[in-house]
Amino acid sequence: MRLAAAARGRSVGVPARRFVIQQHDASTLHYDFRLEVDGVLKSWAIPKGPSLDPREKRLAVQVEDHRLDYYDFEGVIGEGYGAGTVLLWDAGTYRNLDDERSMAAAIATGHAKFWLQGEKLTGGFTLQRTRGGAKPQWLLIKRRDDAADARRNPESTQPGSVKSGRSLRQIAREGT
Ligand code: MN
Repeated sequence: MRLAAAARGRSVGVPARRFVIQQHDASTLHYDFRLEVDGVLKSWAIPKGPSLDPREKRLAVQVEDHRLDYYDFEGVIGEGYGAGTVLLWDAGTYRNLDDERSMAAAIATGHAKFWLQGEKLTGGFTLQRTRGGAKPQWLLIKRRDDAADARRNPESTQPGSVKSGRSLRQIAREGT
């Protein structure tokens, strides 16, 4: 079972690309989920963060693409848009699980499935667009595989930064 699940994460010929999740304590606390796609970071703001429970569908509001060099940012954003504290909550690589379409095409179509290999999150996830417009709404859903775990809640049990080990409070105090 475990081997079969791991094999599903592989995709022939396509190199793994980066993903990152930044916890962002701005006007509201949320998690910014970013996937490296064609030289940019496609980005979604997830109020509750990802869930490892396939029954828990998490709202993910698509926001503007970010520059690739933002992927490991952690620190304090001063005045203006996004002002607040950023903690690098998880990082790793992902693979597209769609054999038919590139990741860019899958996102454009409103349905993407991918395998995450992070420090806190692993396994398959689906992003499903439910509403278009200026700020498209999606749902991030854990796929049913060996990494699904309804009891594990990494947002509460593994809150620290994967970059520095710090808490949000420490980063807010110390800065970058
Ligand atoms: Mn944000």
